[in-house]
Order: sequence, then C-alpha cells, then structure tokens
Amino acid sequence: MDRVFIAGGGAAGMLCASILQDGFDVTLAEKKRRYEFIPDILSLINRDEEHGDLQRHEEMLPNVSFIHKEVTAVSPGLAVAGKEHEFDYLVLCTGSSLRGAFDSNTISPYSYDSIHSNLEMIRGSESHLVIGGGPVGVELMGELMSSDEKNDVLMVHGGERILNRMGPKVSEAVMWHYSNRGGRFALSKRVVETWGSKFILDDGEEVEADLAYMSTGFRPVTDYLAGEYAPSLSPSGHVKVNHCLQIQGHQNAYAVGDITAIRGEKTYIAAERQAKVAAGNIVRTKEGKTLSSYRPLSLPMLLSLGSDNALLACGDHIIKSSLLLRLKRSEGKYVNFKLGHARFSKAMPI
Ligand SMILES: Cc1cc2nc3c(=O)[nH]c(=O)nc-3n(C[C@H](O)[C@H](O)[C@H](O)COP(=O)(O)OP(=O)(O)OC[C@H]3O[C@@H](n4cnc5c(N)ncnc54)[C@H](O)[C@@H]3O)c2cc1C
Repeated sequence: MDRVFIAGGGAAGMLCASILQDGFDVTLAEKKRRYEFIPDILSLINRDEEHGDLQRHEEMLPNVSFIHKEVTAVSPGLAVAGKEHEFDYLVLCTGSSLRGAFDSNTISPYSYDSIHSNLEMIRGSESHLVIGGGPVGVELMGELMSSDEKNDVLMVHGGERILNRMGPKVSEAVMWHYSNRGGRFALSKRVVETWGSKFILDDGEEVEADLAYMSTGFRPVTDYLAGEYAPSLSPSGHVKVNHCLQIQGHQNAYAVGDITAIRGEKTYIAAERQAKVAAGNIVRTKEGKTLSSYRPLSLPMLLSLGSDNALLACGDHIIKSSLLLRLKRSEGKYVNFKLGHARFSKAMPI
C-alpha cells in the first residue's frame, strides 16, 4: 500500500487523513495530543470546560497512525518526527501561529493551551489591551467584554479601520456594537514597547493594562522546511503550490491550509476545501486520472461578537443575530460527522 505522511493534524491534516485512510497507509504527525477546533477556542474565556473534553486524534480516526511529535525536517521521500519516516506522498498542513508576543503581560491566543493555561489571569484582569484589529482581535474583544461588564477593553490597531480586509460597513458595524458597550479603540497606532503593565504607542502615548493580547496577524509554520523544499518558500515563509496544490517542483508533495501562499483569507473552510482537492488528487494519481484544480472562493465570514451575538459579513452586507452565534458555536460539534463522511467526499464535486 502507498504510504502518505501528513504533517499537522488540524483542519486540513485531519480531513486529508480521513479521505485517504481507506486506500493508503496514512501516518499523521501532530505535536498536540488532542484535536482543537481553533475557531471556537476564544469562547473558552467564558465557558467552563476542561482539557479532558477535547478528543484524542486516535479516537477520531482509528485507521490512521498518529505520532505525537514535532516534524523537524522533511526531504523528498523522508520526514523526521522523532524518528525517520519514509513516504510515497507528503501533505504539509502545519498551519500558522499568531506573531510573537511582547515579553511582559502579553498573551498570544492561538491555541487551546495558550488560553487555558492563562485563564485565571485573563478572568482576573480588569483592563485588557487587544493589539491588532483583524478577525481574531475582534472576536477576542467580544469575549473579554462579555466575561465581565466592568472590564475595560481597548483595541489598538495600526490601520485606519479595523477588519480592513472586509467592507467598510462591517468595520463600522463592529465598532458601533463594541463602542455602545464601553469598548474603546485607538486606530492608526501601534504598540512599540512594554514596561510591565505600561504599553507605549508609536505616538508616545502610554496605555495601562493588566493584560495584553497579540492578534497582529499570522505567520506560517514552515521553519522545518529546508534543503530541496526551501526554494518552494515565498519571502513570507508560505509554501508555493500550483493549482493542483502540489508543492512547486514536487509532484508527490502537497501543501494545504494556512501554510500555503494561495491568496485570500486563511480560514477553516478554505483549509477544508484545499484538503479535499489535495487528498482527492493523491487518489486520482493512484487511479491514473487527471488531477483537480483548487479555485479560491471569497466566502462570507462569520464573526462572534462576544457570548451573545455574531455577525455574518458578505462584502458590505451584514446580518447580526444571536442565532448566528449558536450556529458558529455548534460547528465544532460536527467535526466528527464531517470526518466520518469525508471518505465519500473524494467522489463529490468540490
Ligand atoms: C483564535 C482563532 C480563531 C479563528 N476563528 C476562525 C473562524 O471563526 N472561522 C474560520 O474559518 N477560521 C478561523 N480561524 C482560522 C482557522 O482556524 C485556520 O485557518 C485553520 O485552522 C487552518 O487550518 P490548517 O490545517 O492549515 O492549520 P491548523 O488548523 O492550525 O492545524 C495545524 C496543525 O499543525 C500542528 N503543527 C504545527 N507545526 C507542527 C510540526 N512541526 N509538527 C507537527 N505538528 C505541527 C499544529 O499543532 C496544528 O494542530 C481562527 C484562527 C484563530 C487562531
């Protein structure tokens, strides 16, 4: 049986493994011990849940061999995760992480652990500084404002408007929603330095906060790529792929999800759509069929606005409703269902 090695068991990696598990010998290396549904991790601030509630990858996909080690190197035909693993096909799905934090009083909220291990401090703080007004910063601000109405939450954002990759009406609607509830904004400003609970902005203003959160954008996790794959990295560290999602210059190696240099918003849905194309193309190669192409789509974005509201944005069209929040919160519960049905999806149009 042909061997597939998958690096990373998040949105893209788990879906690829699920599609390929029947016809291939699939090994998946994932450094975390349990599966995290990332779009829902910020809600942990306002809900009582323990680590034990997260599922183990092995329970979700029993036919896949999991290695809970970090992938430290890959070269054509060989991957290193603890020990060396040979493969016929490679799929890189190691995602991205939020850009680094300042040393003091700053959290980078990109994983379950980064929030869970700081939960006491987050809940015990009264003044919060959110650095960066993209989708993650906006959702985080909502959770912090919901956790205690006495909380003072300030967002500092370098651009002229928050959510600047979305329509101006979306930025206005979100600012209006938070400002009416006491949230504050400092636009066209950047945090340049910190001293304990003091944060210095680029215009010299000093801001005090018990705790700050970095949400200034993502960087791809591709630092283990060197040697033959290094020329496939873009200047930003993303992996360059062709329209079939093959890594440039490598027919049997694919990259999927946040690590790719594909233009467009990096989202869970995009990662899943790409996973179906890449895994489907591995099946098609084996069957001697023509490969499929990935077509980026600009899809509506669903943003939570705290623990009682959410907003669906499509261009400048907006729907705000607590029902949308319920929809967003329930998505994570369907991951198992989606993985269970993924093996059939290779036969379905993407
Ligand atoms: C706080 C937050 C909220 C978000 N909310 C939304 C949302 O509401 N809707 C939406 O569509 N998108 C959202 N996103 C983005 C979405 O989560 C990502 O686009 C999606 O998870 C990307 O999937 P992926 O498989 O590429 O990466 P991931 O899902 O991040 O998976 C990558 C996996 O690789 C593992 N890994 C990394 N390096 C190694 C290594 N060297 N060896 C082994 N394993 C490794 C990681 O542990 C991780 O499990 C959010 C992101 C964040 C951070």
